[in-house]
Amino acid sequence: MDEDAAAFVAHGFLELDAEGSCSKAKASTLCAKTACLDLKEPRARAYLDTGNGEKLDGWYLDCGATHHVTGRRELFTDLDTPARGSVRFDDEPKVEIHGVGSIIFEAKNGEHRVLHNVYFIPALRNSIMSLGQLDEGGSKVEIEHGVLRIWDRHLRLLVKVQRGANRLYILHLNQAKPLCLTTRKDDQAWRWHERYGHLHFDALRQLSKNDMVRGLPTITHVGQLCNTCVLAKHRRAPFPAEAEYRTQEPLKLVHGDLCGLISSATPSGRRYFLLLVDDATRYMWVALLTTKDAAVNAIKHLQAVAEKGSGCNLQVLHTDNGREFTA
Ligand SMILES: [Zn+2]
Repeated sequence: MDEDAAAFVAHGFLELDAEGSCSKAKASTLCAKTACLDLKEPRARAYLDTGNGEKLDGWYLDCGATHHVTGRRELFTDLDTPARGSVRFDDEPKVEIHGVGSIIFEAKNGEHRVLHNVYFIPALRNSIMSLGQLDEGGSKVEIEHGVLRIWDRHLRLLVKVQRGANRLYILHLNQAKPLCLTTRKDDQAWRWHERYGHLHFDALRQLSKNDMVRGLPTITHVGQLCNTCVLAKHRRAPFPAEAEYRTQEPLKLVHGDLCGLISSATPSGRRYFLLLVDDATRYMWVALLTTKDAAVNAIKHLQAVAEKGSGCNLQVLHTDNGREFTA
């Protein structure tokens, strides 16, 4: 991932599925929202509820499954319940999907990890983690001498599971809850996390280590999520971490985003900010605004500054269909 871009705009979730998988994952979620999903899982090791409602503990690490699925509602940090559909396991009757969401786990060192795009299937007794979905998301999976290991995209070891009965690999994870910021008002690191728009601790550590921000204390916190991080993730996505297409020339393509209302206005009453990012150089411009209407003039002004500075002309300004500019 482009670390500089991440330092500014990404909410920087520590993902079990890597950031780069976002676009594919989101497409699948959107499908679920707009159409009724009809999944087939002929090779997943699923156990359906036979009536007693008892759920099995642990996650079955399964290379036969195409999606992460669970029957346990209490594991979800957020769940998009309008997403509906059905799934058929092997030759069992179809069972209903009651939403898709995210689950936060706590790693051994206290870091939070997010498992995205998990389907909630109430009729399922066990939970299944699709090794294929993990691999697609950039994780590395390896089985050797009866031990299954999973690393994240930075090759940090996340999971180590011994082979169990019936040659199954079942992972027991500690569920984590996002932290409440109001109880951490006295904590310097969390205040800077909030001040920087819920910037992840990896980037904060980088800023503090390289002395890039005056007054920023040494950050030693491990990466965790607060409740606002989770809400923010719901409402908006960062610029793509790994675009399929990148321009080579400055100002050929510029991405624009208008953010606000910000709940606490700046001292001069600004409640919106406009962010422009040059696709080729990742150079960014920010303008604080009092109203949305001011965005047009701010864009013109930033365009003039950028064109003068680079000697190139702005060719395409890309926004998210302009929704944030008109809503
Ligand atoms: Zn946060």
